[in-house]
Amino acid sequence: MYFLRPDAATAFEDKGVKKAFSRYIQVSTNQKPARFIISKTIPISVDLNADDLALLEAHDKALDEYRNAEKRPVKIDDLAFKSPSLLDLKVELSRRILKNCHFCERRCGVDRTAGKKGFCNLNGISRLSSEFLHMGEEACLVPSHTIFFIGCSFYCVFCQNWTISRHREAGTPVTGKMLSEIVKKRRLFDKSRNVNLVGGEPTPNTHTILDMLKELDVNIPVVWNSNMYMHKDTMSLLDGVVDMYLTDFKYGSDRCARRLSKCENYWDITTRNHLLAKQHAELLIRHLVMPGHMECCTRPIIEWIAGNFGNEVRVNIMSQYRPEFEAFKHDDIKRVITGSEMKMAYKIAKENGLTNLD
Ligand code: SF4
Repeated sequence: MYFLRPDAATAFEDKGVKKAFSRYIQVSTNQKPARFIISKTIPISVDLNADDLALLEAHDKALDEYRNAEKRPVKIDDLAFKSPSLLDLKVELSRRILKNCHFCERRCGVDRTAGKKGFCNLNGISRLSSEFLHMGEEACLVPSHTIFFIGCSFYCVFCQNWTISRHREAGTPVTGKMLSEIVKKRRLFDKSRNVNLVGGEPTPNTHTILDMLKELDVNIPVVWNSNMYMHKDTMSLLDGVVDMYLTDFKYGSDRCARRLSKCENYWDITTRNHLLAKQHAELLIRHLVMPGHMECCTRPIIEWIAGNFGNEVRVNIMSQYRPEFEAFKHDDIKRVITGSEMKMAYKIAKENGLTNLD
């Protein structure tokens, strides 16, 4: 399989990859349990029918136990699953959020279990666009079992996956159980290095993904491939579940975010979530350089990453922007980027000491 991506075969030997993803590598090679597996071993004493407050208190307490468990060296085969577990509690909490949806910071407040839809245009049923072994992701991820969900919490006028994010495709309704069987098969028979949850956006599908992990009984790193616009309650549910955040850090300016992705408070929300993500997991940050957005977006993003994480995280400064979807309606982004813009992006990274680049 690696003949398609020979660099993937040696990616785990790369110094920068080892520095940013020491745990991911160990989970991927079955030397350590994935976080969702550990969450299955943490017992909870609360009744899952209790009120929200009682469940949230139990979640905080179980997360403390989770953190101790994560530090203990343990063989995967020696782990004993508990019922109900921290993961069961997360599943229940996610179902409650779905009734008054605030998985993302749009906080639509609709009851998706009753068929209502918010900005992402999704009711309670997740829909699958496709799933396959992705050979085009960063080398350390390849082969990456990528699951594309229909629907998104953003409206990016330049979206390259707009048929997925904007529901041009109907997709296939899926349950957590169905997905868990596919993930297991890809891991055991196709040797996937991870399960890579994307879309669209995984966030509106948090309930289905937690259900999937509850059903899943193979060890595999969980990669959350996202715009990072999650509500803090969702961030809390993902703590103890996600092994790597693969983030799409787009804008250094709320003005650009509002104009090009129809979202508010982008900077505060996504930087908060990046900081939380780094506390709870490992980070691979992608930044797609946009034409004419060097000073408003690329520079502040690189400076922020350098100032907050330095080379502890891995950064992919991406050059593959191309105008798609409605980009032609916007003068600034209706062209590809130039070689000098890419050189400038790398120069800013160098000036800020960022060297752990993909
Ligand atoms: S996931 Fe976000 S966009 Fe979708 S209904 Fe919930 S809050 Fe709204």
